[in-house]
Amino acid sequence: MPKKKETSTVKGLVCRECGRPYPVKPLHICEYCFGPLEVQYDYEKIAKLLTRSTIEKRPPNMWRYRELLPIDGFPSVGYEVGFTPLIKARNLAEKLGVKEVYIKDDAVNYPTLSFKDRVVSVAISKAKEFNFNVVACASTGNLANSVAALAARAGYESYIFIPCDLEASKIIGTTVYGAHLIGIKGNYDKVNRLCSEIAGKYNWAFVNINIRPFYSEGSKTFAFEIVEQLGWRVPDHIVVPMAGGSLITKIWKALKEFEKLGFVDRVKTKVHGAQAAGCAPIVEAVKEGLELFRPVQNPKTIAKSLAIGNPADGYYATKAIRESGGWAEDATDEEIIQGIRLLAETEGIFTETAGGVVMAATLKLIKNGIIKSDETLVISITGNGLKTQEVLASKLVEFPVIEPKISEFDELMQNYTK
Ligand SMILES: *Cc1c(COP(=O)(O)O)cnc(C)c1O
Ligand SMILES: [Zn+2]
Repeated sequence: MPKKKETSTVKGLVCRECGRPYPVKPLHICEYCFGPLEVQYDYEKIAKLLTRSTIEKRPPNMWRYRELLPIDGFPSVGYEVGFTPLIKARNLAEKLGVKEVYIKDDAVNYPTLSFKDRVVSVAISKAKEFNFNVVACASTGNLANSVAALAARAGYESYIFIPCDLEASKIIGTTVYGAHLIGIKGNYDKVNRLCSEIAGKYNWAFVNINIRPFYSEGSKTFAFEIVEQLGWRVPDHIVVPMAGGSLITKIWKALKEFEKLGFVDRVKTKVHGAQAAGCAPIVEAVKEGLELFRPVQNPKTIAKSLAIGNPADGYYATKAIRESGGWAEDATDEEIIQGIRLLAETEGIFTETAGGVVMAATLKLIKNGIIKSDETLVISITGNGLKTQEVLASKLVEFPVIEPKISEFDELMQNYTK
């Protein structure tokens, strides 16, 4: 194993429940209480190495915050990932009746057009530090694309496990990289359970199982960038799609870390979660004030990327939402499609179904008075619409076809100007 460099800011792993310390190894569960393990940093050391101006001088990618990520020094893959646009959405703001609205647009993240490239570049870089030979994952689609692409770039063999009924683009966007793709007859929770067994038997780096404590830290950069791109301001609200509940948990953690380091004043951001109505265990827990969420046995939604019935970080997502003073909303299939179209028609951004879920949830949060008209709102767009075109195909493929003659066009124009 490579020696830890002087620059490492990681103290070790620690159990989120009982606080027992663990060394920096491919471990993810506490052997005493089965709590999840989390990376622990030396924030005093980070405060000496990292300032707002050192960050600002670095290249525009997620590694400008590398002291707050759990790798030793530089990444071995995914150097170009992150620093996606934060778009001031004036048309949408007007439509929503909210003063300041921004879209954090990971639909154009490099290289596979979803926020998963952030977590995977940390995970595969870490897998390299741990000297694994094979990387793997259980995925609802976007993770599959990202692991396949970044494994190819890193020269790794990859094994990818998915529910067998995913969207065509997510399948092709995995196999094209030469990944070994295995479809499982069953939903994501079944895939994940099988993968936990495989991870115990084969010595592979499962990015979201045995490498999970490191992997999930990559999500923090989504929030670091929002704050920096707002001019080192925290917004009043961030609306976040939830699958396993990791992204929203880490967004909240990231804001608190920037507060701890003095990069922002007191964090008053409310983080709100969004899920599809056909698979909303975290939303249900928040709305009903449940301590523990109730897993959904048979998720049913067009938002396949979010269809996790038993979310690994569901408990912590609920906690983060409550701690921040946020709320949660869900979206039906019809609302998801309307949400996709609203964002496309107002801001020219084509998001996948998960983005439709976030848009629909945002509308409800505004309608219920949780997001107010004079506040700052950031909407998290985490995936690209080109990957889930099936959901729109039946509605948006009709258009007129004419002969290449001006007379025919003139006639057509009559319809437009009527
Ligand atoms: C994976 C995913 C999420 C949510 O991820 P979790 O961290 O598991 O909650 C959100 N949006 C898209 C598009 C995703 O692929
Ligand atoms: Zn423990």
